[in-house]
Amino acid sequence: MLEMTIHENSCRGCQLCLDVCPTDCFVFDEQTQKARVAVVENCIACLSCAYICPSMAIRHKDYHQVKNFYRNIEFSSRMEKFL
Ligand code: SF4
Ligand code: SF4
Repeated sequence: MLEMTIHENSCRGCQLCLDVCPTDCFVFDEQTQKARVAVVENCIACLSCAYICPSMAIRHKDYHQVKNFYRNIEFSSRMEKFL
């Protein structure tokens, strides 16, 4: 089965992973103010969460993301506050 981890110290609680995941694998932990993996069984390994996470906190065992070669200006400006 796929293994997915969130590096707890790196997560800044922005919740972008919750927004982007098409299969609702994450929940937001109000106590820690960080994202948590809720149902890893639903993960389809699209790697959208790993791609969008500004802290690069999400890892999928045996899967590696490939960065795009182009730069989307509108997306980059939305991400700027997290960099
Ligand atoms: S996108 Fe990354 S930093 Fe933001 S809540 Fe998810 S794991 Fe944490
Ligand atoms: S890889 Fe895709 S399906 Fe899996 S947790 Fe991330 S966004 Fe959701």
